[in-house]
Amino acid sequence: MARTDAMVLGAGIVGTSIALHLAKRGLSVALVDRAGVGEQTSYGNAGIIEGNTIFPPAFPSDFGSFMRIAFKRASEANYHLSFLPRVMPWLLAFRAASRPKRLAETARLIRPLFSRAVAEHEALMAEAGATHYLRKTGWLKVYRGKKSFAALAREFDLAAKFGLPLQALDAAGGHALEPSLNPVFSRAVFWPQAASVSNPLGVTRAYAARFTALGGIILSGDARSLHRTGNRWRVETDEGALDAAECVIALGPWAPDLLKTLDLNLPLAVKRGYHRHFRAQGNASLSRPVLDAEAGYLVTPMEQGIRITTGVEFAARDATPSPVQFDLLMPKVRQLFPLGERADDKTWLGSRPCFPDSRPVISRVPGRAGLWLAIGHAHWGLTLGPATGRMIAEMIAGEPPFCDPSPYRAERF
Ligand SMILES: Cc1cc2nc3c(=O)[nH]c(=O)nc-3n(C[C@H](O)[C@H](O)[C@H](O)COP(=O)(O)OP(=O)(O)OC[C@H]3O[C@@H](n4cnc5c(N)ncnc54)[C@H](O)[C@@H]3O)c2cc1C
Repeated sequence: MARTDAMVLGAGIVGTSIALHLAKRGLSVALVDRAGVGEQTSYGNAGIIEGNTIFPPAFPSDFGSFMRIAFKRASEANYHLSFLPRVMPWLLAFRAASRPKRLAETARLIRPLFSRAVAEHEALMAEAGATHYLRKTGWLKVYRGKKSFAALAREFDLAAKFGLPLQALDAAGGHALEPSLNPVFSRAVFWPQAASVSNPLGVTRAYAARFTALGGIILSGDARSLHRTGNRWRVETDEGALDAAECVIALGPWAPDLLKTLDLNLPLAVKRGYHRHFRAQGNASLSRPVLDAEAGYLVTPMEQGIRITTGVEFAARDATPSPVQFDLLMPKVRQLFPLGERADDKTWLGSRPCFPDSRPVISRVPGRAGLWLAIGHAHWGLTLGPATGRMIAEMIAGEPPFCDPSPYRAERF
């Protein structure tokens, strides 16, 4: 049996960043996963470190958008009809959290964490030798219709209040930033304080390598074996039992599988999403991720090619993949950017782990000594992994956390 000060369950970007931050504070740490480091949700995302995020994605507020989704005419969202009754309580809570007043409140609460997102990645990248993955070239969002651009007024107001720079551009301004884009949009917004990475898997693996260089160990094991023994937490691994005084659950969309064995009931649902890779035609290229706002997809340059990621799909986490959104969005992608042939032969599916108020839980578990949660990072797990790692490690080490952790407490549910 092995003993460490702390164990982290789940080696996605969130768990790996936590393990690294704990090891940096001199704790003996084991990182446990049943798969390879960073190979699940943290592999397939759009690679954006969203230092600019103000409002979380919201439940559609206008009847037209809602009906387009209901009749499956929307490229930005899909759902499995049979799943709706199960997810309905979550959807109702999500809709309530999408009211303008609540969204403004969320924006205020999450800003301190998001404002550190890029800097915390940069710090870990510097020591992990991963800076070559980082592009500090911002994020471009393009708008085809005047109405969708006009709807940004509230976001612009809050950006000014928070001191977040942005550039509202016309089509020529957007084109000047990304000359390969076709002028199918009328307006664009450039968010210079967002960053992106060319290989999210490479980033997580680099953080894991830095963790092991500091003495951390990575073990293969099933987190669902977690139980209390004496005053420690124990998990079974391929190397035998592992005990630790502190245990952090960072299982992303799989967290509920363990939480139910611990009688912990939190409203974590998933918003599934897909990606495919393509080559660019000729010399076409992109310097940064581009969001086609109304259509709800992202085009991101990656080491593997041009990665197209979809919006959301409400379906059971383990249900058969149904990448029908590509049928609706591919003609729009081809209008916007000169895509060449497919660069992979499989569509990737991942599940964003989401709470209805769009805030993660980064918190100790009330009434369970030494048990911590770092889950529910939704659309921003890559963005917030290192900031989350720092915050949890500071709390475990008894240091003052760098920002107020109360918006992320589990007790809010
Ligand atoms: C299409 C799409 C695009 C996205 N784009 C972005 C983006 O641009 N920027 C951004 O910030 N975020 C983005 N996200 C969200 C981001 O990818 C996730 O929030 C993030 O990856 C979650 O990280 P995690 O470490 O919590 O989970 P994961 O990466 O899923 O890690 C959880 C780990 O737990 C392990 N595990 C599960 N069950 C067990 C078990 N029983 N025993 C042991 N181990 C177990 C898994 O193997 C996995 O390695 C996107 C997501 C999707 C789907």
